[in-house]
Amino acid sequence: MSLAEADSRGRREQLAEALAAVQQRIALTCQQVGRDPEKVTLVVVTKRFPASDLAHLVSLGVTEIGENRDQEIRAKLDELAEIDPRARAALRVHMIGQVQTNKAASVVSYADVVHSVDRERLVAALSRAAEQQRREVELLVQINLDGAKGRGGVAPDQVMALAQSVVAAPGLRLRGVMSVAPLGADPGAAFATVAHLAQQMRREWPEASVMSAGMSHDLEEALAHGATHLRVGSAILGSRSQTR
Ligand SMILES: *Cc1c(COP(=O)(O)O)cnc(C)c1O
Repeated sequence: MSLAEADSRGRREQLAEALAAVQQRIALTCQQVGRDPEKVTLVVVTKRFPASDLAHLVSLGVTEIGENRDQEIRAKLDELAEIDPRARAALRVHMIGQVQTNKAASVVSYADVVHSVDRERLVAALSRAAEQQRREVELLVQINLDGAKGRGGVAPDQVMALAQSVVAAPGLRLRGVMSVAPLGADPGAAFATVAHLAQQMRREWPEASVMSAGMSHDLEEALAHGATHLRVGSAILGSRSQTR
């Protein structure tokens, strides 16, 4: 075995162990709170990690990945398509970072789900791009829980109005809500608010059943509050600071 092969095998093993540990956390929490783990979707957040990790993850059964920068995703997916076209074809791509309106067409070209929808202009741009490219994109309305600027999201009282715009826009499918618990706040309280809005949306549009909440450090609280999609990065791939 060459050194490169040994490295690659070692990395795959590392990812396999970390992935299994996260799946174990999900299973245990679901058992504790009486939920079906089959109804929880794990989105593995691969930002700042290389295309080779995506190939390993697909070989371990991962089908949903999350990324947050348009340029980085494009390059990574192109590279993956070269080194492992079947892995690329197997992946559903979730855009979880803020989207600039002028990047809407690019994002629509690869994203299956956009989690970070937070303004009318972005909805209009995504809709136009989806129509032009004859694609259908699933959207989540991002909720901003603490009014912090720069992280995206709409205030809780604007969520339903923005959702209505998504429903009315061609090429887009409203699928639910997304949120990040504010730094330093009680994640339980934050996720309770998100769960309330998720329910409100589901009552109005039953297909909008997604609650995307919970990351490496707070996935248990998110699951307890009904999260259907977890976005987990560092607990599986390791610390991002070491890679830069
Ligand atoms: C990076 C990121 C995550 C994953 O965070 P970890 O703490 O690494 O699990 C989840 N959601 C969003 C919006 C992110 O930007």
